[in-house]
Amino acid sequence: MHNKRLQYTVRVSEPNPRLATMMLEQFGGADGELAAAMRYFTQGLGEDDAGRKDLLLDIATEELSHLEVIGSIIAMLNKGVKAQLAEGAMEEAELYRSIGASGVSAKEALLFGGGPALIDSAGVPWTAAYVDSRSEPTADLRSNIAAESRAKIVYERLINVTDDPGIKEALGFLMTREIAHQKSFEKALYAIEDNFPSGKLPGISKFANIYVNTSQGEGDANGPWNVGEQWDRIDDLSLTMPIDGGDGTARVVLSLGDEAKLAKLAARTTSDPTCNPVTGVDLGAGPGAGRTTDEDMGGADDIHEAPAIAEANAPK
Ligand code: MN
Ligand code: MN
Repeated sequence: MHNKRLQYTVRVSEPNPRLATMMLEQFGGADGELAAAMRYFTQGLGEDDAGRKDLLLDIATEELSHLEVIGSIIAMLNKGVKAQLAEGAMEEAELYRSIGASGVSAKEALLFGGGPALIDSAGVPWTAAYVDSRSEPTADLRSNIAAESRAKIVYERLINVTDDPGIKEALGFLMTREIAHQKSFEKALYAIEDNFPSGKLPGISKFANIYVNTSQGEGDANGPWNVGEQWDRIDDLSLTMPIDGGDGTARVVLSLGDEAKLAKLAARTTSDPTCNPVTGVDLGAGPGAGRTTDEDMGGADDIHEAPAIAEANAPK
């Protein structure tokens, strides 16, 4: 059911197409309201737990109200551009300049006529690829928690770029609702008693506690994430290649026919380390080519280096 009133009152002081373009990030962007609504709506449809289903459909529906609020802000900010374009009120050159100067993209102005379009702030169309659900509640709830914290941050940045008090207030509301949603998703995650690791299969215990110090040298740092009782730390990297005690090779059992074909392929493309052919880059080498091989061939003596660029370009 559509309610003609917005979830939060939108008061915009004056049109500002540049700001409207920035607001599009939360309309049709990766962390925007449409992405949030579709994420929770589809998760809710597939959910088997009555409590989570209700939670997801409640929040999905609220995100649609947020889409309406941010879309209304964008529409208000673009009212000037929309009127000027539709009525052709200015001289052509003046209108041409005003669209460019406002920071609004030509696509937004010409194709969408200043209306709220399902694009992000760079004009990229919304895509379902922003929704990363896997139909596994502990994985999806963690993703939802991260999505809410990302949306919160983007609202924070948008609040920082506008001095319009009415917009600041509405964005502050939208930002705060993402905080509330994050709290609900955290509760829903921890309402599942065994929520880590995700899924049914247990991890292999001898690998579940290992920390591998693969980046060694100055800057090595320790903390509870890599030292302490919870961790079997490996600093000697020769112990990890391979880590399973096997020989570390990759193998597959092939049919006799495929094996013979692969042997032919390998023989046909064998490389000969004893030949040192002159190639196209040797023949065409000019200044800046570095070391190349001479045409009369023969080995290391015939390697020469072209003059440096500065030397070659010096007046003769
Ligand atoms: Mn929202
Ligand atoms: Mn939210």
